[in-house]
Amino acid sequence: MSKGKVYFYTLGCRVNQYETDAARELFISAGYEIVSDHQDADICIVNTCTVTGEADRKSRQHLRGLARLNPDAVIVAMGCASEMADGTVDADIVLGTRDKKELVNRVEAFLAQRNALTHKSSHSRPELTKTDVYHDFGTVVSPEGSRAFLKIQDGCNHFCTYCIIPFARGRVASRPRESIKEEVEQLAAAGFREVIVSGIEVCSYGADRGEGIEAFLGVLNDAADVPGIERIRLGSLEPSSLTEDFIEGIGRIRQMCPHFHLSLQSGSDTVLKRMNRKYDTALYMEKTELLRKQFPTMKLTTDIICGFPGETQEEFDETYEFVRKCGIDKVHVFPYSVRQGTRAASMKQVDGVAKKERTERLRKLSDEQEALYARKQLGKTHEVLVEQYLDYGDGSRYGTGYTREYVKAFFKVEGDEPEVGSIVEVEALEPYSLCLICKLI
Ligand code: SF4
Repeated sequence: MSKGKVYFYTLGCRVNQYETDAARELFISAGYEIVSDHQDADICIVNTCTVTGEADRKSRQHLRGLARLNPDAVIVAMGCASEMADGTVDADIVLGTRDKKELVNRVEAFLAQRNALTHKSSHSRPELTKTDVYHDFGTVVSPEGSRAFLKIQDGCNHFCTYCIIPFARGRVASRPRESIKEEVEQLAAAGFREVIVSGIEVCSYGADRGEGIEAFLGVLNDAADVPGIERIRLGSLEPSSLTEDFIEGIGRIRQMCPHFHLSLQSGSDTVLKRMNRKYDTALYMEKTELLRKQFPTMKLTTDIICGFPGETQEEFDETYEFVRKCGIDKVHVFPYSVRQGTRAASMKQVDGVAKKERTERLRKLSDEQEALYARKQLGKTHEVLVEQYLDYGDGSRYGTGYTREYVKAFFKVEGDEPEVGSIVEVEALEPYSLCLICKLI
């Protein structure tokens, strides 16, 4: 019999999702049941996000909403927004980013004492542990389709002026290499062919132990040595951390996917300076050239913040031109949003209309670049990791998945269906929006 029913709601980034998956495992091993409807739950857990003021507001809104809709449940706040919250958080239990492993114990201790409580109230933020030690959950299976996320580190040492993450998650804390390897082995044994190596700032892996980027390369080589792992995809990379040796090192890894997300944030050197980024556009360009030398067919993606405080029209135009000049194939465009507690929050803000207009222009350019990249794949052979099958009204059935370069591909099935999670060879026949229509080879 289950000890209770637990509902999770996750906001924010993929690292948060990974940690929710880890927390879910903790509850399952302790004898609880996971439910997808908050109304069935005895315990409601919100894994909060604080990356922008808006994310913070939504996190609080979810906590309040759950407490109202399910007044008998234990409400738990965990993650970045609860770490940063001053004063009160509307939850029975508040955990920050560094004590999530305590989750089940804290819930059980609370339940044991609950009879003594007369009513639910706002609880003050507890004293949070400030040590930056990697809190290892052990092996976590955190799938996204047929692929699995692999978290290798937490925290960041960079202190970009718009970002609250180093305050919310602390300094770099790296997961032990053995623990990472064990997780990759378990993922391979569970049938995953692709791992996505992620963290808050993966290039800093090992920095807390005084190691350089070769420690990150070591982790990637370990993963490549695990039988069954056919693809290794990297999460967001910091241009300033990449060295020629590292790029050559990943070039020797057969399973490395030629898809790199190299964080840019702005293509204007003056804006990069105000952001306290540790590179300029010349260095960014140099790193992309080194990557292209090793991975000539690579897809290059990035993040850009539009309307960062003080961004002039000229600075935005520099960004726009740089995206083109550098051959960036896809841009995740974020209009700047104030996050109180950061240095950028007190800088002169850009007018909302200009911000919107710049965001739209850049998104349009990104779509054009991405469509162009998809068209360049026509006539070529690709490996696709099968994610699912879809039936269409005309009776046809298509398999879908991603190529190694991370282009979504559709292929028609007429005979036997390759298994979901397997890798198939296809030929790209025609573009379909930003995707490819292919045929099985
Ligand atoms: S590198 Fe900058 S933007 Fe990224 S997490 Fe660190 S401080 Fe935030």
